[in-house]
Order: sequence, then C-alpha cells, then structure tokens
Amino acid sequence: MDSLLESMKTRPYFFDEGIRFECRRCGACCTGEPGVVYVNDREITEISDFMEIPRQVFMERCLYRLKTSYAIREADDGRCIFFENGCAVYPVRPLQCRTFPFWFQNMRSLYAWKGVAVVCPGIGKGHLYSKEAILECIGASYPIYEILVKEVLG
Ligand code: SF4
Repeated sequence: MDSLLESMKTRPYFFDEGIRFECRRCGACCTGEPGVVYVNDREITEISDFMEIPRQVFMERCLYRLKTSYAIREADDGRCIFFENGCAVYPVRPLQCRTFPFWFQNMRSLYAWKGVAVVCPGIGKGHLYSKEAILECIGASYPIYEILVKEVLG
C-alpha cells in the first residue's frame, strides 16, 4: 500500500485541489443495499463501552462473524442496526465509517467517485479536505478494504 499511496501523492488526481465534505447524517450510506461494516477488537470495546453493555453481550447481539473477524449486523431492510435517525454510535463509529467517502475503492477513479457523489449529499459541502488529508483516509481505510476482500470475497 505504501508504494500505491506514494504514487497517488505524485500522480495527478481529480482530488488534487481537495474536496469538500461534511456528513449530513442522511443515512444514505448506512441504509438500503446491504454492505459489510468491519469492526476491529478495539472498536468492539469502544462501542460496547459507549453503549454501556458488556462486550460479550454486544458481540452476540450486534455483530456477526466473518471468516476471522466481525461485522455489524444489519436490519432486515438492509440498514445498519445502529442507524436510528442518524448514527446511534456516531462518536465511536468504526474507522470504516469515519473514513467514508475517502476510501481507495471510491478514490481510485473519477468514475467511481461520481458514483459515490450521486448517493452522498455531504460531498461538495463543508470542510475542504486537502489531497494529503484524503490520502490519509485512503491509507487508514485501505487495510479494511483488504480484509473485506479476503473475508467476504475470498
Ligand atoms: S451518505 Fe454522506 S451525508 Fe449521508 S450519512 Fe452517509 S456520509 Fe453522511
């Protein structure tokens, strides 16, 4: 990933001048089509502490097992179980949610980005993320992308 990030730093990209983004908490990315939200060990502890329920109870009620890790359950309609008029665990939401929409799979081409911009009304609003800040999000979330490719598609 380091070499990929290095090449993204030096090559021209559609986000060279930065991109404005501010989550409107509309829920479009947390509802609808099924998705997989990965949580690591630290996040499991943080969210269960935030919810003030024992970690084991939280895992049984709110998570499901991937091959070697865990993901947050969805309701029957496909929404994240924590989405109730906004994210109920927003202050401790997983890194995967924190780094949206600046994921590698969204940023690798303008075509992919335009697809995300259609569903996310926060894009183009609010805080201007520099290219460096966007690359940081890509770098931070890329390991999750790799895990999910292995755990879900592999
Ligand atoms: S779709 Fe965009 S604005 Fe809506 S909740 Fe997700 S990140 Fe926020």
